[in-house]
Amino acid sequence: MDTLPMPAWHLFDLKKYKEYPFRDKMINSNPHEFLLQTTRGCPYLCKFCSRNFGNKVRQKSPNIVVEEIAVLINLFNAQYLLFADETFTINKEYTKKLCTLIIERGLNKKISWSCATRVDKLDKEVLMLMKNAGFEFDLAFTSVLKRAILTLWFALQEMDRIWIPIQNSWRLNERHSHR
Ligand code: SF4
Repeated sequence: MDTLPMPAWHLFDLKKYKEYPFRDKMINSNPHEFLLQTTRGCPYLCKFCSRNFGNKVRQKSPNIVVEEIAVLINLFNAQYLLFADETFTINKEYTKKLCTLIIERGLNKKISWSCATRVDKLDKEVLMLMKNAGFEFDLAFTSVLKRAILTLWFALQEMDRIWIPIQNSWRLNERHSHR
């Protein structure tokens, strides 16, 4: 993905892109919010997922992602980012490197950001780094299985986010969600 140029944000009239169907807090609900990608592809096979970018995981180097964030802050006063990766923490070492760079550059003091991932691709070290790098979220999904509920609860406790709404669905049980 390093061969892809940075999106030509200056060519967009961002005010025209106010509506984002996934969540009202997300991209372009105000002009200071931007969408980024670090990764394309997901190796999992959840039945309900289209996996727009296929099963093969490709990633931008963390240095390039951090550079893009800096440009969005400096040129467009970005305050909130949505990483539109299918599974943001698919590679924990990558996530740790990215979060460390964000913190080292002080970008975490200027932006907060969100992403989508699986709780089984997280651990305490990754969660704490993400939190310190500006990660915020206000909605979580899990299945109705005790193990999945407890895993999510652990993640929410670590992130000091136990107050957010949780949506449970039997459709997210492994038996139903995997091909
Ligand atoms: S882990 Fe997420 S992105 Fe990957 S197949 Fe399942 S729902 Fe889709």
